[in-house]
Amino acid sequence: MTARVYNFNPGPATLPLEVLQQAQRELLDYRGTGMSVMEISHRSPEFDEINNSAMALTREILGLGENFKVLFLGGGASTQFAVIPLNFLPSGKTATYVDTGSWSSKAIKEAQKIGKVHVAFSSKDEKYKRVPKPSEIDLPSEAAYLHVTSNNTIFGTQCHQFPDSGNIPLICDMSSDIASRRLDFSKFSLIYAGAQKNLGPAGVTVVIIREDLLAKCPDNLPTMFSYKTYAEKNSLYNTPPAFAIYMVKLVLEWIKEQGGLEAVEKVNIAKKERVYEVMDNNADFFRGTVEPDSRSWMNITMRLPTEELEKKFITEAKAAGFVGLKGHRSVGGIRVSMYNAMPLEGVEKLVAFMKAFKKAS
Ligand code: PMP
Repeated sequence: MTARVYNFNPGPATLPLEVLQQAQRELLDYRGTGMSVMEISHRSPEFDEINNSAMALTREILGLGENFKVLFLGGGASTQFAVIPLNFLPSGKTATYVDTGSWSSKAIKEAQKIGKVHVAFSSKDEKYKRVPKPSEIDLPSEAAYLHVTSNNTIFGTQCHQFPDSGNIPLICDMSSDIASRRLDFSKFSLIYAGAQKNLGPAGVTVVIIREDLLAKCPDNLPTMFSYKTYAEKNSLYNTPPAFAIYMVKLVLEWIKEQGGLEAVEKVNIAKKERVYEVMDNNADFFRGTVEPDSRSWMNITMRLPTEELEKKFITEAKAAGFVGLKGHRSVGGIRVSMYNAMPLEGVEKLVAFMKAFKKAS
């Protein structure tokens, strides 16, 4: 068996070993077809089953009602930054955004190319060290929608409370924490996420859209930019990212086997508690960069006393079998990304390494 490292990459990220092994077993001959999933038609009964199961599992695991459609799209979450305002920002209305980091601000920039935008809250001047309390969000009554980012992958903050936007559709970029915890998903009109952190490999973006919002898509959009196209054709209007969807299906089956969101949430809480505990007990050495109320369970960011120590930490961690710990180039420092597929054992070993590293420094 090849040696696997503990992979703390922020995305693409570690996948469950069992999932990779199943994909490996099925790679050359998918269930007696004599072909790989990469080689079968997206119009075949085999792919239909994969596509429909992945959609049904998304629905089941997140506990979505029948009034939601699950779509599998290409183009990454970044494409959604533009597609959302194209579909839901008519002239005369204002798209409202909460700016909590680089991804939110990219989403804002795209929306500004399409129509009128109001930034309802920004923590930019505070170096994005927190997310707002719902009461801090200034939501105008003429808002076309309210867009939030549930987890800020680069800055290490996460929403633990979502605003109640009333009749205004709440749209959420859940790229880096979808399916990591239980939430009342029914309060969102649209959720989107690139799969490459919690759900599978890069190449597919999951969009979950409520039918009342879907009904608002205008008819004059280019076909590939309209959510209606995908909703009406079961995400099979054109060739979908078929292998990535197959991998998402396997990951969702793995989540179900773990015991669903309740079980993965429990492990995710245990993991983040281990890391924050060592940081809190050694706050002079592992200095957290975000406010306690806004701490992310998925991406934990910290600075060490010097940049030299940070470099040394990353190098020695790699030699000890822990990879992907370098902070994003825009913020530096250390970032521990631990999505669903990172086992508690990997985090416990990393924490032991952190303690030993401090002692030796
Ligand atoms: N939103 C968030 C919160 C992200 O973390 C990322 C990617 N890291 C994106 C959007 C962009 O995703 P993609 O690369 O799939 O376009």
